[in-house]
Amino acid sequence: MPELPEVEVTRRGIEPHLVGRTIAAVVVREPRLRWRVPPAVGALAGRKVRAVKRRGKYLLLDCGDGHLILHLGMSGSLRLVAEGSTPGKHDHFDLAFGQQVLRLRDPRRFGAVLWTTQPPEAHQLLRHLGVEPLSRTLDGRLLHGLTRASRVRIKPFLMDGRRVVGVGNIYASESLFLAGIDPRKQAGRLSTEHCALLSKSIKHTLRTAIRAGGSSLRDFVGSDGAEGYFQRRAWVYDRAGEKCRRCGTAIRKIVQGQRATYFCATCQK
Ligand SMILES: [Zn+2]
Repeated sequence: MPELPEVEVTRRGIEPHLVGRTIAAVVVREPRLRWRVPPAVGALAGRKVRAVKRRGKYLLLDCGDGHLILHLGMSGSLRLVAEGSTPGKHDHFDLAFGQQVLRLRDPRRFGAVLWTTQPPEAHQLLRHLGVEPLSRTLDGRLLHGLTRASRVRIKPFLMDGRRVVGVGNIYASESLFLAGIDPRKQAGRLSTEHCALLSKSIKHTLRTAIRAGGSSLRDFVGSDGAEGYFQRRAWVYDRAGEKCRRCGTAIRKIVQGQRATYFCATCQK
């Protein structure tokens, strides 16, 4: 599943090719994605893309009088292809810009192509999203405030997109390792020092994955951020029973909120 780093890599990959360009044509081959592609999307030709933004895992194409909202769902990818290249079976949506076409491939059709004329942050899919982990807004102080009075364990807390958006399973485990925090600790019991360390670790982990994904920008697909991350060797994720890279203790695997959590009981307190 595309995670925040992959979506950001995609954003950076397509941005220089789209900004300032006018949409020449829109092709919707399959409107039945997660939600039906609205008719307004089909009428976007003639609009100029002013900016390519991201909020959580949503890509937002600012078209001046509205935003095209794109989400990659479980299996989606965006790439730029040459005009006239034959679409594959799962290529459901094209945005044509002269000689280049932005093409959405989505085999499982959990992705989304939507249009809004509201401010995008007010859209029903976006308005409940938590703080952006890579923004300056997220720091130790904010995280400390967010976690107060929460009895949720810190690992599922981090993965709750209404609190902090886009910290997926891999990144939550890895960030907690780097910050030396036991994933079973109650969020509300984290100290200010813990929260400062953790907010830094989250940013570091996501940035590392974005950098790893950036190496595949050539084809504008946005490699899987997770794969990119693994190439750089995970500290704990998916390493149950293997030795901690810091202290040699066997990495433990537990289940929290139906998701696997990996940690080192020696390094994480
Ligand atoms: Zn360890």
